[in-house]
Amino acid sequence: MVRVRFAPSPTGNVHVGSLRTALYNYLFAKKQKGDFLLRLEDTDRTRLHEGAADNLLKALYDTGVIPDEGLVLDEDGNQAQKGDVGPYIQSERLELYQHYIKQLLDDGKAYYCFCTKERLDDLREHQKAVGETPRYDGHCRDLSQEEIQRRIDAGEPYVIRLKLPENKEITFSDTVRGDVTINTADLDDQVLIKADGFPTYHFAVVVDDHLMGITHVIRGEEWLPSTPKHVYLYECFGWDAPQYVHLPNILNADHKKLSKRQGDVAVGDFLDKGYLPEALVNFLALLGWSPEDEREIMTLSEMVDAFDITKVHRSGAVFDREKLDWMNGQYIKAMDDEALAERIAPYFDDENIDHDTLVQYASLIKERIACLSQAPDSVKEILNGDFDWPAEGEAYDILHADTVPILYNALYEKLTGESDWNAENIQGHIKAIQKEHKKEGVKGKALYMPIRLMLTGVMHGPDLALIMSVLGKDECLKRLRRFHDEIL
Ligand code: GLU
Repeated sequence: MVRVRFAPSPTGNVHVGSLRTALYNYLFAKKQKGDFLLRLEDTDRTRLHEGAADNLLKALYDTGVIPDEGLVLDEDGNQAQKGDVGPYIQSERLELYQHYIKQLLDDGKAYYCFCTKERLDDLREHQKAVGETPRYDGHCRDLSQEEIQRRIDAGEPYVIRLKLPENKEITFSDTVRGDVTINTADLDDQVLIKADGFPTYHFAVVVDDHLMGITHVIRGEEWLPSTPKHVYLYECFGWDAPQYVHLPNILNADHKKLSKRQGDVAVGDFLDKGYLPEALVNFLALLGWSPEDEREIMTLSEMVDAFDITKVHRSGAVFDREKLDWMNGQYIKAMDDEALAERIAPYFDDENIDHDTLVQYASLIKERIACLSQAPDSVKEILNGDFDWPAEGEAYDILHADTVPILYNALYEKLTGESDWNAENIQGHIKAIQKEHKKEGVKGKALYMPIRLMLTGVMHGPDLALIMSVLGKDECLKRLRRFHDEIL
């Protein structure tokens, strides 16, 4: 049975790249009818960020990438842990790491290191100066048992390092990269337990993935160079390593790694701006994978059906903001007005705005906005009454055609008489005008275009009767009178 995990460190707001990692784990688990776990890797005590776990869970639940096991939200929306192989927060598993590090020490696969920060800094500086790759020089690899005990008793701080064999090839298979082989000569004797007694990520990840029965490790490409150390640890313990799947980096338009400097990267920022969670997830799914039939718009469950981990791309995926806007726009367009009204409501400052008005706004703007936060400005632009009529060009000609005065008079009269102001009735009047004045040439382009121009100053826009109904009778008549006084 497939078991995968998303194992973020709670160091800040969730990055879209992390959500993509979580999503690929989720898609793979669901496709294989397996389990998707969430584990919190909080062993780096210097980088902890308050509220990060809440932020993480919120991002996952908001986007539907919901864990089956591990850290979850309970029915009341509170953090909880669910499953038989917990705890799922690494800082609550310290005893386990102590147990397993002891095993490595006893087997001579790990060693105490008392090197001070000053010594390590000097070593690094020296290695850099002579053009070597900075790495630990094995200074403490062969200390005697007595010396170790004496120094521990004396209260000297220490770390515990992995004792990598010299000149050994380590090979593992990666679903995306194929077989990867690295010689231990290119690896460092990794610190497994830090001076504060906490394990490093590298040690905890192996112990936990094993104890939690993880079958596939799907994570970002930045972990590829660390994987041989993990694989060697599995070997030391006599455990089977999981299958590795390293996902391609997500890049900015300039093909550098996606960074904050080029705009938003936090999931919460995108959601706050009014990117729909379903659109964001759809967009992220296509950063590094595409379905066989090249479909682009997919629900989460359609993605699960189509997902094939063996088709994950090797090369970096560009985070194309224009494409995200396009995709979000597609989702907005496809929503019904009622649903869209609810989603745009929080973006309007006016708290008294009523539901019916929001539904009308939704219908007006749904073809035009890329994200929900653009709704108020878009409405303002469409309904703006502070415009001048065009002084030249096609629009000018349309407004100055011989038929315009006839049209104007008929329209003004009909609208003045209307007591039940709604799009349908307005549409009825326009149709009636066409019928009554067709012979005078008031039809087709000489009908809708000039009305739109008279009332909004522009040639194109959302449904005309709808705009008029939203503007209201008084405002339409006022605009017509201004047109009459200034232009006609
Ligand atoms: N804690 C690591 C991270 O934040 C997890 C890497 C892994 O999935 O092994 O990226």
